[in-house]
Parts: sequence; structure tokens; C-alpha cells
Amino acid sequence: DDVLISVRNLKKYFPITAGWLKKQVGQIKAIDDVSLDIRKGETFGLVGESGSGKSTVARLMLRAYSLTDGQILFRGADGSVTDLSSLTDRQMRTMRREMQMIFQDPYSSLNPRMTLLELVGEPLKIHGVGTPAEIRDRVSELLQVVGLRPEYINRYPHAFSGGQRQRIGIARALALNPSFIAADEAVSALDVSVAAQNINLLQDLQEKFGLTYLFITHDLGMVEHISDRVGVMYLGRLMETAPTDKLFAKPLHPYTEALMAAVPQPDPRGNRTRKRVPLKGEIANAANPPSGCSFHPRCPYAQPKCSAEVPALRSVAGDRQVRCHFAEELSLIGVTA
Ligand code: SF4
Ligand code: MG
Repeated sequence: DDVLISVRNLKKYFPITAGWLKKQVGQIKAIDDVSLDIRKGETFGLVGESGSGKSTVARLMLRAYSLTDGQILFRGADGSVTDLSSLTDRQMRTMRREMQMIFQDPYSSLNPRMTLLELVGEPLKIHGVGTPAEIRDRVSELLQVVGLRPEYINRYPHAFSGGQRQRIGIARALALNPSFIAADEAVSALDVSVAAQNINLLQDLQEKFGLTYLFITHDLGMVEHISDRVGVMYLGRLMETAPTDKLFAKPLHPYTEALMAAVPQPDPRGNRTRKRVPLKGEIANAANPPSGCSFHPRCPYAQPKCSAEVPALRSVAGDRQVRCHFAEELSLIGVTA
């Protein structure tokens, strides 16, 4: 099997407490029953509006947050499968060599008091990999790998531009030879041309080191460009997953359609004409999500059943999944042209 990480029924609930006794009066279902597979060597794009839970899914997968329920099955190089949800923090520390994260803000995610040697070498030091001399060599090599000059090794982050700082973060993430990297809005804070350069770098590194990526963004154009497959999140639930080309050719979930329609996407080939369905209303409050299909107050196709029953995420058309009661009917009448 070529699946590297399989997320099964992932849940993260936060208690809502009140009063000085901290009595629990409810719960926020930040992540509600998310299941997805990420295949070895692919880029899986996770999209959705802010507050949809995409970053939380990544942090749960890396066990940066504790999960309420579910499994995270990770396949090692030897083929053995480990359920990360059952590991102790100590056991997870070893696994973390395989799984790294790149963050959005290149200005706040690097400690300004540390040199590049210290920043990029820190994971090696923490995991006890190499002598100081070996760590210095490895950091020089990593700087070159991400297109930074090894002479910069004793400089501090403030000497670098946003795009370069992002590369420092990438070098740090690569230090322990991970097989999986989660990039959370990794280039969203950068100018378009700098972002494009760093995206190209990430793609080169993927090929060179056989990396698997989870790429989190609110930018549909970005996700279409970089991903092999895409998952669309809304209010802590996965609404649709599909191979990228199929998703963009024909979304099956009304929320995906609305997201796409909300972004003007000129198509030079002129063969992707979409009926524009404006995304009405605000994203709902996760503490008090709508009943049934959580998208129903904003869905132009909502029926009585939609507010009464939570639709399951189900497989359709072979390699796609959709969480909508009426996906087939809508698809028949042609949600998109
Ligand atoms: Fe719209 Fe109903 Fe489908 Fe939800 S289940 S997306 S409300 S049609
Ligand atoms: Mg986020």
C-alpha cells in the first residue's frame, strides 16, 4: 500500500466551562470526525476558510495537540504501521524525526537570538545526532540545499528577508531527514514572486528527498498548483476530498463550489466556465455549529433533511469522497457547467 499517513475519525473537542467551579457547559467540536489518507510522495492540500480547523488537523497529526479521539496511522520505512494516537510523549519524540512542520510567519517562528547554526542545528542537538563539528557541516549543507549561502551560518534571522527566513525554517524542518512535512500557510505571508520561488523550492526538495507534504492554505489557486489531491474543510469537518484535477474540473460539494465561485479564476483555455454562486453569510460559530449539515445555512441547495441529519463523508466516483446528502442529484442537474 502506498499510504504514508492514514487519519481515522480524528476528533478534537474543547470543553466550554462556566463559573468558578469551571463546570463544563458544552463543548467546541474543533475537529469532528476527520478521516483522510496521505500517500507516499504526494502533496495533499487542505483548504478552507480560516477557522475551518485545517491547522488543528496538522497539529493533531503531529501530536502537537492531544486528540480527543481517533487514530493517526503512520507507515514507517520498514512498512510497519504505528498508531501515533497511542504513543507516549517520549515515544512520540522519536517519531517526530519523521514528521516536521513549516509555519506561516517567517518573522515570529524563528528565535531572533539564535544564529542559523543554532536554529537549523537545534533539532540535531535535541535528538543527539552528531558532534558539534558534524552538526556544523550538516547545517552548512542544509543551508545550501535551501539556496542559502553557508557563509551565513553565524548570522541572526534579522539579517534576512521574509523569503529567506522561510528557507531557514525549511532547512530546520529538513535537518532530521523527515519523510513528512506539514506546511501551514507556509508562503501566505510572502510576496507573490517570493512565494512562487519558495513553492518551487519545496517542490524540488520533494523530488530530491521523496518527501510527502500536507499543504495547508486558504488559497485555492495555490492548492490547485501544488497539490496532487485536495481536502476541503468547513467548521471542523472534511466536506470533500478528490484528486486536484477532478475537484477543480467539477466540485461535488456545494461548499467547494461556493469557495471556487467566490474566487475569480480566469481560465485562458476558456473551458472552465462556472456558474457563480456567491458564498452567502458568515462562517458559523464553531461553539454552536448549525445542526445537520453545518453548511446548510449558507447552502443554496439546502433541503429539510439537511438541517436534520449530519451527512456522512462517503466515497463517490471511485477516488472521491463527499459529505452531502444530495451530491448525486446536484451533480446530475449540473452544479457546474
Ligand atoms: Fe447543501 Fe444539504 Fe448538501 Fe449540506 S447536505 S451541502 S445543506 S445540499
Ligand atoms: Mg490556520
